[in-house]
Amino acid sequence: MSEQTITREFQAKTRKVLDIVINSLYTERDIFLRELVSNAADALEKFRHQSLVQKVTFDEHVPLEITIDGDDKKHILTITDTGIGMTLDELETNLGTIAHSGSGQFWENLADAAKKDVNLIGQFGVGFYSAFMVAKKVRVQSRSWDGGEGHEWESDGGGTYTVKPCPGLHRGTKIILELKDDAQDYAIKYTIERIIRQYSSFVPYPILVDGKKVNTVQAIWARSKGEISEEEYTEFYKFVSNTTEEPLMRVHFSADAPLAIQALLYVPRENFEILGLGRAQPGVNLYCQKVLIDQHSEHILPEWLRFLKGVVDSEDLPLNISRQALQDNALVFKLRKVLTKRFIKFLKEQAKEAPDTYLAFWKTFGIYLKEGITSDFDYREDLGELLRFQSSRSEGEGLVSLADYAGRMPEGQDKIYYINGPSREALERGPYVEMFRKRNIEILYTLEPIDDFVLNHLGEFDGKKLVSADRADLELPEAADKEDETAGQQGERLAEADAESLCAWMKEVLGERIKEVALSRRLVDSPAMIVNADSYLTSSMERVLRATAREDHLAMSGKKNMEINPASPLIKKLARLREADQDFARDITEQIYDNAMIQAGLLVDSQQMVSRNYRILERMAGRE
Ligand code: ADP
Ligand code: MG
Repeated sequence: MSEQTITREFQAKTRKVLDIVINSLYTERDIFLRELVSNAADALEKFRHQSLVQKVTFDEHVPLEITIDGDDKKHILTITDTGIGMTLDELETNLGTIAHSGSGQFWENLADAAKKDVNLIGQFGVGFYSAFMVAKKVRVQSRSWDGGEGHEWESDGGGTYTVKPCPGLHRGTKIILELKDDAQDYAIKYTIERIIRQYSSFVPYPILVDGKKVNTVQAIWARSKGEISEEEYTEFYKFVSNTTEEPLMRVHFSADAPLAIQALLYVPRENFEILGLGRAQPGVNLYCQKVLIDQHSEHILPEWLRFLKGVVDSEDLPLNISRQALQDNALVFKLRKVLTKRFIKFLKEQAKEAPDTYLAFWKTFGIYLKEGITSDFDYREDLGELLRFQSSRSEGEGLVSLADYAGRMPEGQDKIYYINGPSREALERGPYVEMFRKRNIEILYTLEPIDDFVLNHLGEFDGKKLVSADRADLELPEAADKEDETAGQQGERLAEADAESLCAWMKEVLGERIKEVALSRRLVDSPAMIVNADSYLTSSMERVLRATAREDHLAMSGKKNMEINPASPLIKKLARLREADQDFARDITEQIYDNAMIQAGLLVDSQQMVSRNYRILERMAGRE
């Protein structure tokens, strides 16, 4: 080794990734070539953009292209690009450390997922390391566009790499792979061509294998829709999103006003965020007249659309705009608005024209639309139209929209009702829907803890208030059929005065646990239920806080009321028992409270409940 060779250790994260790549990924190794070619293409795009921002003089006339050479005898594969290149610093930072913020656990999860779908490697900013799937040694020779000295980086994928000066290079990067014994095919021209055709046909620069161009250079999004085949669309998706899957949805559109835009956007089939792989990076690239301005742009779409993949091209943007300037550029702002509106419109159309596809979309990506409602005021109402829920009227897998609900509201009803719970079955067995069922009023079942938060943000839909059925002040519209009006067996209700005094006594027993015990005007069969006097810190909010371990917030949790059903046999008996046996009546009151809490999906002290429950059982068993 020359004196100028410096040996360095990889960052711990990088070692972990290398270990995964080398020791656990054996299938679909072909993708390494796509990753290296995609890095070469990125480097060319960066150079092209740089040369627009600032005049480049060094190696000015070197053509923008990628060259791949296979040495079949020495089993060496070389990928050369004439892109932006890397300085010594950049070599060390880009190839020795990982920008992704993922923790150790994150990489473990990714490793597991990557065993099933190796494409994931490229989607989390570590594509370069896939070279070690096929190479026992990797050398990277690079010289930056600024004409500074060139360097060579080298590693066998173990704990260290070396760097040293490498004179005589042109602008760009050359990656030299010494292939593993079982990967020697990758130096064969035929294999290389096959892989390039499969994965990289949309790379917008010539890829030369043995001096011959093997890809077709084209900006598919700039062509007219009629000319593009389904296969081309699908291939392009695979190309932009580094995947072998097909997309779930696609929208290709152009606009002239207020901005000239060409956009080709795709919705994937999978949502990696719910697979525990952390927050997705944006996946849409910004072009200006077919020149890449900003890859995986954070500026052209709102965060809640980060699952989209594709390309946006606007010739109205200045070609030489720097990435920093995108952040608060008025045109970019406008662009984002147009794209967001157009995509929402597309979703609305899909919901009508392809309801099954929309449902599949909703199940996988609905959570992002909910995020949009809570975070993006501008699109709240539009997104409200896209929400889907189960309801007391929905059947099987079918879901209803707020518009469906509003459309069939009978005269006299002016609110949209919903109730949150763990499942349809649990809700239908519980107390909250009893009066809805009796009066034949539709009620939405929101089954995700976050849903009530979302509906609270939305507030109303089409002028109709959205109201949770566990609110204390719920006023249901009267039944058309008056006779059926009041709860339970009318004649046998507890007398008003007795009922009132029972409420007061139960409140005394339950003390601080409850704000008020009141007579229910809407329970039919259940003896009692918990309702929320406070419309913000509701039961479902409390569940969310508990689920996210924010129990410290619960101290401010709103007090709840308990409603009791004066027609329930248990309540009637309790009123009498209170006179005869206070202690037993207390136990029963506490048990009713715990049961109601459980039906509200809230926590109770289970140890206490079990001992009390045994006391009650003992008493029952003692009865002849
Ligand atoms: P990603 O491409 O997602 O950033 P990679 O692991 O593929 O992740 O590459 C890491 C980084 O190394 C790139 O972001 C880039 O800065 C640098 N890099 C890799 N290949 C090249 C190349 N051919 N030319 C210039 N820079 C490169
Ligand atoms: Mg890459």
